[in-house]
Amino acid sequence: MSAIPVGILGATGMVGQRMLHLLEGHPWFQVAFIAASQRSAGRPYAEAAPWRLHGECPGHLAGRIVSSCDPALIPAGVKIILSALDGSVAGPIEEMFRAAGFLVVTNASAWRMDPLVPLVIPEVNPDHTALLHRQPGAGAILANPNCCAIPLALALAPLHRAFGVEAITVSTWQAVSGAGYPGESAWDMVGSVHPHAGKEEEKLAIEPLKILGAPDAPADFPISARCVRVPVADGHLLGVHARLTGAPSAAAVARLMTDWDGGVAAELPSCPTPPLRLTTRRDRPSPRFDIHAGGGMAVTIGRVEDCPVMGVKFYALGHNTIRGAAGAAIANAELLCQQGFLAS
Ligand code: NAP
Repeated sequence: MSAIPVGILGATGMVGQRMLHLLEGHPWFQVAFIAASQRSAGRPYAEAAPWRLHGECPGHLAGRIVSSCDPALIPAGVKIILSALDGSVAGPIEEMFRAAGFLVVTNASAWRMDPLVPLVIPEVNPDHTALLHRQPGAGAILANPNCCAIPLALALAPLHRAFGVEAITVSTWQAVSGAGYPGESAWDMVGSVHPHAGKEEEKLAIEPLKILGAPDAPADFPISARCVRVPVADGHLLGVHARLTGAPSAAAVARLMTDWDGGVAAELPSCPTPPLRLTTRRDRPSPRFDIHAGGGMAVTIGRVEDCPVMGVKFYALGHNTIRGAAGAAIANAELLCQQGFLAS
């Protein structure tokens, strides 16, 4: 198959850089358009976006001129746009691209709870893309979930299917890269932790329900979340306590998580099989050692143990800018391709 051209909005930010990095040598996609704000437009990429990942900015990107976010500038043949725009501007810009007939995969929270916008994790709810047909106009928008909602929903998916989830409490320890660049004030992060990570708690309480439910009927169980930003570069760790129907043992829960293959997503280049990696070490998962599991796309699960209050408890760790954002958007674009949405 010849490479499918994709456009990237917000290409200069933390998530945009990850997307460009992950798309280097991608088997299906090729970057045909990069755009950001007026601050960056017209400038060479390396100058507009000092490289914040390991290594250097790929040579062929460094001199590429950044465009403004204008659908009229998109080269012929591009049908799909991956957006890593700042949340404060994403809504109207992405709407403009949808109206111009593009399929937009967005990382921003603006669209996630819109009833006609599917909130998709390829392993969990690939069928929710049916909602795309119900959106008005020529184009459509698909949203990636929040960077903690993704590892939580992935961990719960096989449990909800097999037993049914009755209630969840979750605490998170979230990396600073989750707030973009420059992100949180150094005053809040150096030698401290910050017990108020924006609107993360609200998002984590509702997004998994939309993902784990049917397209028109969210799952119905309470989630109580506490989210804390910690001085770690990349990787969000979640401490989850779950009440499951029938009170299965921790051993049964661990077995189910280990055996889950992620369904049709196993055929997508960015989705590792299995999606959940169980560790039996008592000192893991840890951001330092485990965030790169499955190329940053696997969620590492550890300390699956019986809980005297809720029934079962475990830790889940995901790479926030890969599984939680850039890699999630690419995997969703692959899913759309697999389902024929990019066919001419
Ligand atoms: P970021 O580093 O602050 O990057 C924001 C991007 O938006 C930059 O490319 C910036 O371009 C562009 N932008 C800002 N204002 C603009 C405007 N008026 N017009 C056009 N472009 C504009 O943020 P990030 O961490 O990459 O996050 C990007 C999105 O992903 C956000 O919606 C965020 O909530 C979401 N997200 C992030 C993570 C994470 O772990 N970081 C996880 C999940 C979801 P300039 O460089 O030109 O200003």
